[in-house]
Amino acid sequence: MTIVISHDGPRKPQIAVVTGSKVPCNGCTACCQRDLIFLHPEHGDDPRNYPGNVMEAKHPLTGEQGLALKHKPGGGCVYVTDAGCSIHGRAPAICREFDCRRLAKSLLDLPRPERRRWQRMLGGQHLLSAEVFEAGKARMHTLKEDAA
Ligand code: SF4
Ligand code: SF4
Repeated sequence: MTIVISHDGPRKPQIAVVTGSKVPCNGCTACCQRDLIFLHPEHGDDPRNYPGNVMEAKHPLTGEQGLALKHKPGGGCVYVTDAGCSIHGRAPAICREFDCRRLAKSLLDLPRPERRRWQRMLGGQHLLSAEVFEAGKARMHTLKEDAA
């Protein structure tokens, strides 16, 4: 489950959700450092799996009221360690399926001013840091391998 900027056809670019991704993270934890990790019960997230580590949150795009993982004082996810995610088998749906490559590609396909506008907006909402964008760009070539 990943947000991308959809710009198919004559419609203005808008947020869309795509699923079914497998990113070769290879030790990267960029999206564990600052991003908002909103829980999605409709995708199987159960807050009871994160005792003491969830907080009330409003989804910045939909306005939906819900729960998100807490952050450490430095801003990282409460579950991130030097060795990566400490709850790998039960990380929330957005962690399991987020695809920085597809989000980066959807932004790079936009005209530059439009891309900048979206990057500022998503960055301000804690949905895309510069580090995550760069991680996605660096792995975009693996999208072809996925499709093969
Ligand atoms: S930014 Fe991309 S490569 Fe890095 S941890 Fe997140 S999904 Fe994996
Ligand atoms: S739950 Fe794990 S994968 Fe998800 S943001 Fe936290 S440390 Fe990263």
